[in-house]
Amino acid sequence: GATLGVMGGGQLGRMFVHAAQALGYSTAVLDADPHSPAGLVSHHHVQKAYLDAEGLQQLAAVAQAITTEFENVPAEALRTLAQSRPVAPSGDAVAICQDRAAEKAHITASGVPCAPFALIDSEASLARVSDTLLPGILKTARMGYDGKGQVRIQSRAELAEAWAGLGRVPCVLEQRLALHRELSVIVARGVDGQWVHFPVQQNLHREGILAVTEVPAPDVDPALAAQAVAHAGAIAQSMHYVGVLCVEFFVVKAADGRLSLVANEMAPRPHNSGHYTIDACDVSQFELQVRAMAQLPLVAPRLHSPTVMLNLLGDLWWRDGVERTPAWDAVLALPGAHLHLYGKTSARPGRKMGHLTLTGADAASVRAVALQAASLLGLPAW
Ligand code: ATP
Ligand code: MG
Ligand code: MG
Repeated sequence: GATLGVMGGGQLGRMFVHAAQALGYSTAVLDADPHSPAGLVSHHHVQKAYLDAEGLQQLAAVAQAITTEFENVPAEALRTLAQSRPVAPSGDAVAICQDRAAEKAHITASGVPCAPFALIDSEASLARVSDTLLPGILKTARMGYDGKGQVRIQSRAELAEAWAGLGRVPCVLEQRLALHRELSVIVARGVDGQWVHFPVQQNLHREGILAVTEVPAPDVDPALAAQAVAHAGAIAQSMHYVGVLCVEFFVVKAADGRLSLVANEMAPRPHNSGHYTIDACDVSQFELQVRAMAQLPLVAPRLHSPTVMLNLLGDLWWRDGVERTPAWDAVLALPGAHLHLYGKTSARPGRKMGHLTLTGADAASVRAVALQAASLLGLPAW
């Protein structure tokens, strides 16, 4: 049978491997970590760095098509692989998503609004910053995730200090918006340009990290939801994107009460806010990743149950300075509870260790059970 390859061995790679194997493929993971969550469950595990020529050769030798689960995989590695194998998404598309300046330029060119921002890459650009961007958030242009590499600033003095603190690497300064809600949309697009999407997800972040996803989005009217989907599709189309793409949106409220969408950022891969699709949809985001890269039909996925997803961070493994296993038996006694653990050995606080998806007959009962699960785990209500 055929083998599908994935760059990166994290939890997204692990769930990709599960989906590929369910469709009868063998899998190959490239990740230097011998204990990577995806490497542990894959047929092949190439334990080399992303730019290691020998590692790339080994992956291309065994895999007939290649994707990525890591948004910061060097675009150059994807371009090298693409000389001998189909690679989806392309190095060019991933390169756009890796750089906040390129990403915002692409989003804007697709006709989708972004938060007001300025590129900070020199003392001169720092001096030129408009006061209308304050208070703001300074974000490193590259390599940030889970709110890392971001500093909230009030004043120009704080801005200069924060940029120095980030090592004066290229950054974007974004105006800090009053967020009414946060949403995301996941689309999958094939080489033929056909694309499908999941329903709009409503997301709650805590300390810059996704905490809760609810679908259907409880506080989003159908017109706004349709616009979010259209925006995500436009962004994928104009990149000639192939694979699964997630676009994060902010909902902002104008003085007159009108709600509008602002694109935040995108991820060139399945997304944490789409983990619910494994248990609540007839086709998951990982299966669509497999289908897109293997040039199989992309069917429109259908949500068959209202759902809430709770992220399980390493903090849950610690109580009063002592490491312990959370009370899974109590959680699994709840109706419609689907527990996913990623096989990570060390439960550092803030580390994504797993997630819990709740499904049920109607949104109100799913929410009630999700709140029960949160309470059992010691997570705050929302
Ligand atoms: P991810 O793990 O999603 O890739 P990231 O580190 O790339 O995270 P962002 O998505 O840019 O970070 O920001 C993380 C969170 O910080 C957002 O989901 C939002 O809650 C908040 N945030 C980011 N930018 C702004 C902004 N301009 N105004 C208000 N809040 C913001
Ligand atoms: Mg990000
Ligand atoms: Mg984000």
